[in-house]
Amino acid sequence: AHHHLVMESDAMSRALERMAREIYQEADDPSLLALVGIHTGGVFLARRLGHILKNLYGLSVPIGTLDINLYRDDWSRLHTQPKVRATVLPFSLEDKDIVLVDDVLFTGRTIRAALDALMDYGRPKRVRVAALVDRGHRELPICAHFVGLELKTRSDEQVNVFLQEKDGADKVVLECR
Ligand code: 5GP
Ligand code: MG
Repeated sequence: AHHHLVMESDAMSRALERMAREIYQEADDPSLLALVGIHTGGVFLARRLGHILKNLYGLSVPIGTLDINLYRDDWSRLHTQPKVRATVLPFSLEDKDIVLVDDVLFTGRTIRAALDALMDYGRPKRVRVAALVDRGHRELPICAHFVGLELKTRSDEQVNVFLQEKDGADKVVLECR
């Protein structure tokens, strides 16, 4: 397999800061914002966006998490159904302006499962998606509103997202077979 570095540490920091600025600037009322990170990568990224919003704007944004299990051992996603395993939403969803955060957006099936889980808990005012990498290949009418990097991939490729919190350093590597 070939590996291509597609985002190094500084670029990831800049991308997250830009995304945080967009989230703030596009909010009608920033006090309604809430971030919901999707298991592992998305949770770390939601916390980072939360820190940036605090540092730039003095805004404290509540953060929730969803653990969505894929039951997949390859990257071909057709006909697979992600399952929600655990939900931590320590705030009311009622009328919140929610940003779902994930590391990689691919078919959209994980976001669909996340939406199902959210709707069980209340009625948000709006839900949008922030993804560090949008690798394309959507199988559902789902999009990311805040994107760190749009990456043209083949469906048999893999995007490896390394984060300080779990890997000791930030980078994104495209693995081509
Ligand atoms: P989807 O449900 O949109 O097909 O896939 C999104 C979910 O699977 C995300 O939670 C994401 O972490 C993971 N995922 C999908 N494709 C990739 C990939 O190429 N690399 C990584 N690291 N995660 C992926
Ligand atoms: Mg994931």
